[in-house]
Amino acid sequence: MTDFEGLRALVTGGASGIGLATAGLLAARGAQVAVLDLNPEVAAPLVGFRCDVSVGAEVDEAVGAAAERLGGIDVLVNNAGIGAQGDVTANGDDEWHRVLDVNVVGMARVTRAALPHLRRSSAAAVVNTCSIAAWQGLPNRVLYSASKGAVLAMTLAMATDHLDDDIRVNCVCPGTADTPWVGRLLDAAADPAAERAALAARQPMGRLVTADEVANAIAYLASPLSSSTTGTALAVDGGMYGLRPRPR
Ligand code: NAD
Repeated sequence: MTDFEGLRALVTGGASGIGLATAGLLAARGAQVAVLDLNPEVAAPLVGFRCDVSVGAEVDEAVGAAAERLGGIDVLVNNAGIGAQGDVTANGDDEWHRVLDVNVVGMARVTRAALPHLRRSSAAAVVNTCSIAAWQGLPNRVLYSASKGAVLAMTLAMATDHLDDDIRVNCVCPGTADTPWVGRLLDAAADPAAERAALAARQPMGRLVTADEVANAIAYLASPLSSSTTGTALAVDGGMYGLRPRPR
């Protein structure tokens, strides 16, 4: 498929996991792709720019440099995010500010910087990486869930604001996806194999989602194939949102 031929895409958090799978897929389908990440090391044809989305000056500089390199921006994938665990007592104010600063304000910063470029595009689309945590109470994920709830609400609000700019804004809500992030969580568990099985069992399809499956959903929402879709959240969660887990 070449549905991104001639389009220019920016993917935050594109050096690992869902972001890397997305950047690779968009490039394979014909886009020029710039990755903004704490880690700028990405393989060609991707172009990497070092950027911490929680630092405004870095965002402005990296988005400007990426837009210059690509000659504009048509697609923005706001995917950089970090996790936090625990109930409401687990994290202090500093940790709340740190996570919200990356997961929520980071998306606003990058979108703000990319907006003038998106406005000039004839195929503008923003896709935000949200989470099943925005919809469903997950155990010990209060801060993370709050951040993703904000991403969902922000997606709807931005979709409304930019209707007249012809910029579509959507998000994907992955369930537990098999990425380096989840790998690190599993490695830290007392019994990684049992923890992996428990996470898989929580999803009615009985397995973790793959990064490529989430990338496919992001690519759909970023592409002209979804030209009538804005303000939507697409679950990629093995049935977790809508279905009950089956006893296995
Ligand atoms: P990952 O850790 O494999 O990749 C995240 C990437 O983001 C890394 O390359 C990292 O360097 C980058 N990053 C982190 N903080 C950054 C910052 N401040 N500035 C710039 N880049 C930064 O994680 P992943 O599992 O691929 O997660 C990607 C997104 O998907 C996140 O927003 C996460 O909340 C969301 N998500 C993941 C899952 C899952 O189960 N893996 C489920 C739902 C949602």
